[in-house]
Parts: sequence; C-alpha cells; structure tokens
Amino acid sequence: PYDDLTTIRRTNLNPALTTYYSKPLALHQGYKQWLFDIDGRRYLDMFAGVCTVSVGHCHPKITRAVSEQMEILGHATNIYYHTKIHEYAMKLSETLPGSLKCIYFVNSGSEANDLALLMARSYTGRFDVISLKNCYHGMTYQMMSLTSNNHYKYPVPGSAGFFKTLNPDVYNGIWGGNKCRDSPVQTDRICSCTGECEAGLKYIEQFENELNYQISKNGLAAFWAESIQGVGGAVQYPKNYIRRVHDIVKNQGGLFVADEVQTGFGRTGDHFWGFEAHGIVPDIVTMAKGIGNGYPLAAVATTPAIASGLAKAGHFNTFGGNPIACTVGITVLEIIGEEKLQANCKEVGTYLLLALLHLKSKFPIIGDVRGKGLMIGVELVEDSKTRKPLNPEKFLKIWEHCRDLGLIIGKGGLFGNVIRIKPPMCVTKEDADFTVDVIEHALIRQG
Ligand code: PMP
Repeated sequence: PYDDLTTIRRTNLNPALTTYYSKPLALHQGYKQWLFDIDGRRYLDMFAGVCTVSVGHCHPKITRAVSEQMEILGHATNIYYHTKIHEYAMKLSETLPGSLKCIYFVNSGSEANDLALLMARSYTGRFDVISLKNCYHGMTYQMMSLTSNNHYKYPVPGSAGFFKTLNPDVYNGIWGGNKCRDSPVQTDRICSCTGECEAGLKYIEQFENELNYQISKNGLAAFWAESIQGVGGAVQYPKNYIRRVHDIVKNQGGLFVADEVQTGFGRTGDHFWGFEAHGIVPDIVTMAKGIGNGYPLAAVATTPAIASGLAKAGHFNTFGGNPIACTVGITVLEIIGEEKLQANCKEVGTYLLLALLHLKSKFPIIGDVRGKGLMIGVELVEDSKTRKPLNPEKFLKIWEHCRDLGLIIGKGGLFGNVIRIKPPMCVTKEDADFTVDVIEHALIRQG
C-alpha cells in the first residue's frame, strides 16, 4: 500500500506537501496518545499533529458529541443564530481576562492571525506591524510577511523578487544576535535563558531603536508575539522582555497581539493562556490547533472596542463557528477541566524537562533543553560551546531512529535542529520515561 499511496501522492497532491521522514509514515488510527500505522504498528505520539491533538486522538466524548450534533444540525453558516456558536463564545470568553470577550470564529491559525491584522489596522488606522525573529504566525499571503523564516517566503528557490510582493509594512527580526552572559551556553543566536540577562536588556533597546527608525511617522498598528515560540523551537524570552515590550507598544498607541495558537489552552501548565506568564493582558488573542483537538477551528478574541472597527465593514466566512466545530470546542474545554489536563501538563512536563536536562548532562550533542509544561524543545548541536546546529543529515538519522522505535516527535527551529515535544495533554510519566529512553538510544546509536 505504501507504493500505491506514494504514486497517488506524486500524481494528485501538490508537491509543496512534503513529508519530513525519508521513509513515509502512513497513519491509520489513533487513540488518546497513541497512533497506529497502516501495518498496525503502534507509536507514542509526542507531537500531537503539530501540537494540535490536545485531549487525545479520537477522544470518545468528542466522537459522541459530534455524532449527536451531526444528527441535529451540521452546518448553518454564521449569518444565522444557532445555539452552539453562542454557547461556545460565552464559555471561551470566560477563560479570557479583562474585556477580551468578543470572539470571531475562523478555521485555522493563519486565518485567525490574518483577521487579527485586519482588526488591528482598521482599529488603529495604522499599518506598521512588528513581529519577532524566529517567529511563526502562519502561511496565508499576509502571514508570510509576519512569519520571519525566509525559507517559507520564496516559492521559487532563490527568487528574492517574490519577497517584494509581501507586506511592506511588516518588520521582522528585532531580537536575537546578542550574546547572553548569563546563559550556561554562549551563543550569538537567540537567547532563551529566561533570566533577567544583559542580552534581554539589549533586546529591549533594539526594539526601541526599531520603533524609532523603522516605523513610519504614522506609528505602530500592532506588535505580534507567541508566548513561547513554537515552530521556532520552544524558544522562551528573557525575563520581563514581553512585559516591557508590551508597555512600550501600548505607550506608542499600538496593539499587542498574542498568538496563542500553540501556547493556549493549558499546554504550558502554569496558566491556561501563555501570555499570563508574562503578566500582560493583550489587546487581541489568536488561537487554533489545540482548541479543536484536530478539528479545523480557530478564533480571534478581542475587546468590544477593537471589534467594532471590523463591524463597520461587516465580515463573513462560511465555516467559522459552525455547529460541529463549536461542539468540538465546547467538549474540548469540558475535557480539559474534567481530566485536569492543565495540571497534567505541568506535572508530566516538569518531570520530562528534568529528565531531558539530565540527558543533556550526559550528551554534549544536546545544546539546550527548554520549554514549559508540555511544550519542550531539545536542541541538537555539533559543538556545545558554539551551539553550531547539528548537521541536518545526522539530525534526521536520530529523529528517524526514534520513529523506528515507536516514538513520534517533531522537529523545528530556525536551523531544523530542535526536537519538538508537544504531545496530547493526557500523556503520563511512563510516556515521558519512554520518550527519554528512546531519545537516549537514538543518541547512542546515531549521535
Ligand atoms: N501561529 C502559530 C504560533 C503556529 O504555530 C501556527 C501553525 N504552526 C500558526 C499560527 C498557523 O496555524 P495554521 O497552520 O492552523 O494556519
């Protein structure tokens, strides 16, 4: 069957859809934290479909709720009233602080960020936007501008001309490049020591410079940040960086947009929303992935005042907030509460982080272990002093060895050398032990 699938893929699917593994993996079935391929092999899924399957694959409560809703009303579009969109909007808004009570439902994280951009610009009447080096905010044409990695911006390799067609009012890359004295590892790349370090203060200076010299006289519309950078490789910010940048942005009359597509819904353990750890209340929050446990569901939450900017023109989408999507959303919220999954993220995440740090002490190939809750990055390097990224071929061997032993993990980071661990939030300490054992085995055999 693999040959047949490969033929269909080559013929009927756009080649932009690349598979990371050199030998493809064809999945057939899932249950909670487990996946099964078409040959019946079982895998522990520590990546959750890119941080998306939050409460577990094929959770029976969701299957039941969706089947029941399917029999009542599957689709309505949001030009009509239906009970589920109201119930979900109310319950979702209860999880958000301050006056972030106004929700607009869409279908993906990119779409949510795109809409947030429209809201920020229509509310402030300004165009300029700042996002951070190493960030990821999506793949729509507008979001490619915010997403910093140029790799995603050139559909024709080497064709810098395409870049010019992206949004000219977006500035990336205002952090990074400062050596951090406090970090155990010297790096001239991004510091994620989470301390109040010299590099962190430099980043704030850089931010102010950028505001003064790059932003047009019309001023800043919005600043965008993930609470922990996800695709970038579980990169955290130096202590107080986000709070201080938030204050600067607000003083300039700009809006702070928190992209909670990965960090929301309890994944980071300590808080339901990642931004809470930074002690701020954003003006706009975008969310997707885990809120729908794999179902296409995303949302933008903001204040009534900011939402009113969009209301002047009216805005429509066909599928956002449909009865099935909202049923899934409501059920995910219930399961997170009933199964205490946020607390589990903290407990199992801390246990796993410590075990990986212990592994780091034994293997110099591990340049950094970081993250929070069940959002963890393990950076593999050629040299622990310079933190030169591990050669991609060696990385792939280690990563694929894990898969051969029944462990699915992600990869990411600016140089593709970070193992990303973001499992369903129901994983156990035994799963954490298995993960560490398999990674250790892969490092011994392939590292
Ligand atoms: N924001 C963040 C932080 C993300 O990680 C992603 C997806 N990796 C997106 C936005 C885009 O979401 P989607 O793929 O659902 O469009």
